[in-house]
This record gives sequence, structure tokens and C-alpha cells, in this order.
Amino acid sequence: MEKLSNYKYTMDQCNHCGQCKWIHPSGMHGWDYSEICPIFHEYGFDACSGQGLINIAKEIMNGTLQYGDGLEKMIYSCTACGACDINCKSVRDMEVLDCILALREDCAVNGTLPEAITERKKNIGESHNIYGLPHSDRWNWIPKDCGEDPNSDTVLFLGCAVSYRQRETALAAMKLLRAGGVSFRLLREEEWCCGGILWRNGQTDAAEKVIRRNMDLLHGQGVRTLITACGECFGFFRGAYPKFGAVSFRVRHISEVAAELLEKGKLAFHKLDIDGPVTYHDPCLLGRLSEEYVPWKGTIHSYGLHEPEKVWRRGEYGVYDAPRMLLRSIPGLELREMPRNCENAFCCGAHAKDADQEFALKTAAERRREAKSTGAGCVITACPFCEEALSEPGENALPCVELTRLLADALEGGEE
Ligand code: SF4
Ligand code: SF4
Repeated sequence: MEKLSNYKYTMDQCNHCGQCKWIHPSGMHGWDYSEICPIFHEYGFDACSGQGLINIAKEIMNGTLQYGDGLEKMIYSCTACGACDINCKSVRDMEVLDCILALREDCAVNGTLPEAITERKKNIGESHNIYGLPHSDRWNWIPKDCGEDPNSDTVLFLGCAVSYRQRETALAAMKLLRAGGVSFRLLREEEWCCGGILWRNGQTDAAEKVIRRNMDLLHGQGVRTLITACGECFGFFRGAYPKFGAVSFRVRHISEVAAELLEKGKLAFHKLDIDGPVTYHDPCLLGRLSEEYVPWKGTIHSYGLHEPEKVWRRGEYGVYDAPRMLLRSIPGLELREMPRNCENAFCCGAHAKDADQEFALKTAAERRREAKSTGAGCVITACPFCEEALSEPGENALPCVELTRLLADALEGGEE
């Protein structure tokens, strides 16, 4: 779908300024925690950064560099977190992340992918989930009396990680919706992986099949609102799905719905047994990568003038306020911000795991170091992948709690 040559403008415009490696000075809080690219932070040389990957893409396009000798691992160690993209866009208009993803698409066809990435594709093709577990395990645990309304035009989409590994999060999301009086239904056996991981890995043909199947299903059933229990699914539905066709349903994350219910007085929270302050980790796909993708086709004139005007995704309109508002509404809970937050949040490293496990663990430890620097006794997040990554054993251990479950525990006057 994407050719490397589509990003020639970005490749040519990169002037090696290095902004993609650092938080823009206006948002910096000092030297420590000013780096924004996890691979650059760990490996410290240019090839491992947005800038470097753009240069690699250009060399591949020009035929002056070939895959092999560890290049594929380097390309897939990048967590595709998009921090380079939005920080580059703080100084110029070009598409760093899309260029990296186009490089992956080329790599998936012409290179040799890390084995775990090939495995994911096989799993999704065979059993519709990223783990290769039986499809029936996706829904056979859901209680019959979960409160769904089979006629609702609102679907609660659970996602692979929540359905298979974090079922408490799914139950918590249902509890919040019931408490707020929101009518919803589940897809159960009709729910498949959202396909986002295939798209991010450049396995575009496979991604397209899954995404088109999901869109046809949801459109065919007249779904008007899709609520996701997973920050990652949310980002893919908003950021990737429109690349494959018009999306007619509204996509919302459970935290946005809960915040709206709170504002309307339909939810209230009681004090929790948590000692000391907490901090919040913004998942990339709930934050900077969740802005809606608006297709653009046109001409790029001199000085980068895009005609017709292009809607740029700069990460400013991610879901940042809702989780914070919810946390602040829990009596006695003190929320402290990490130096890198909202669109400048440092990635937890979860998505590098398939290509570079050691680096992924170090990245999670670096994020925990930052979380601990706030004095918080626990880190809260709103994505099952971030929760898993931040909970991995390693340096700077710190309890990690998923937001939906925390809210369900704090529900005032709620059911058990
Ligand atoms: S990708 Fe953007 S921020 Fe990074 S070096 Fe190139 S122009 Fe500068
Ligand atoms: S997407 Fe994230 S990890 Fe990859 S180059 Fe950009 S900032 Fe670095």
C-alpha cells in the first residue's frame, strides 16, 4: 500500500537537526528525561532514531543499502511510538513515523522479519489473536449476565490482550458501563484481533484483510459507537483504520466514556486504600498516536506548502485529560506528573519485545525510573500492553495498576 518513494519529500527534507531524539526545548524539564526516542536512549547512535531510520529508508529506496546483517532487528527494535514524529513536527511538516512504517512494509516484503513477528501474523491468520490461543478462549469466559443489551448499537471491543490475559479489565469496563447506565453489547465469537499490530509491523496485506473484515462486520451490524477496553486497539481504530476506508462508527476509549459519565454525575468514586501519590503513564496509542488519520492526496510545493491543506497529526489531541480527570476525582488520590507526559510521554517499550526483548525490558525500566522520580508509589496506565511491560521484573520495580480496574474498585455504591 505504501511505497518508500511516497516519502521522498520527508527523506529529502530531513536536515539531521536531531529534534526527533529530544523533547522540544519548550517542553523540557532539564537534561534528565529530555530524550524522547527509546532506541536512541539505549543505543545512542544516529541509525537508531527517527532521523536514522529515515536515512536507512532512503538508502534502501536508492539501492545503496541491503537488508541483512542485523538491519531488520534494528528496524523492528524501534517501538513505533511516534515520539520522533511529533517532535520533528514541532519544527517542520513531514511524516517521520509514516516513513518508518513504509520502511517496515518494504522490509516485510524484501527482508527477513524477526521470527516472533512472523509468528504473530500466523497466529492472527489462524486463530484471530496475537497469541495463537484457541479463538473460543476469547469469549467463553464472559459471564452470561454481564449486562449487555443484544440490540445495542454500542459495542464494547475487548481486544486480544484484555480478552486473553487481562479479563479483570474487561469485567471492570463492563462494570463501569453498567454503573453509568450505558447500553452496550459484546461481539463475543465475532470479535477478532483489531489487526493493528500487523499494520505496525508492515505486514500490510494481512492487516488489510483483518481490518476490512472488521469494518464490514461493524458496518454491517449498524454499530454506531465502538468503545475499546484497550488503549492500543483505540489508537489503531482511529489512526490506522481510516487508511483502509471510511469508518462510519465513533471510536471511544473506556476512559473517555467514564469521564463523560463522571461529569454527568452518573459515576462517583470512593477513597481507595492507596498510600502516597501515584503517577500516570500515557500509552502511545491512547495518547499521541490516537489522533484520527485523515487521508491526504495532493501536491507538495516549495517550502513544504501542502495543497490542498493537510491535517497533521501532531499528538496534541490524544486522550490525555480523561484519565487524569478520573484519577483526580478519586478522593485522597494524589496524582503527580512525570517529566515526560502527554504527547511527550516516553514509551514503555512493549512493542520492541518481539524483535529485541532485552531492549524492551530496559525501556520499561527507564520509564519506571522516571515514574519513581515523582515520588509515586505506583504507576497507573490505560493499556494492557503498557501494564504488562511496566510490570515485568527488572530494575526500578514499581507496582503498576490498570486504570479501568482501579476505577471499578473505586465505584461508589456500585455492585460487586
Ligand atoms: S527527522 Fe525531523 S527532527 Fe529528526 S533530524 Fe530529520 S528533520 Fe530533524
Ligand atoms: S518511533 Fe519511537 S522508537 Fe521509533 S524512532 Fe521514533 S521515537 Fe524512536
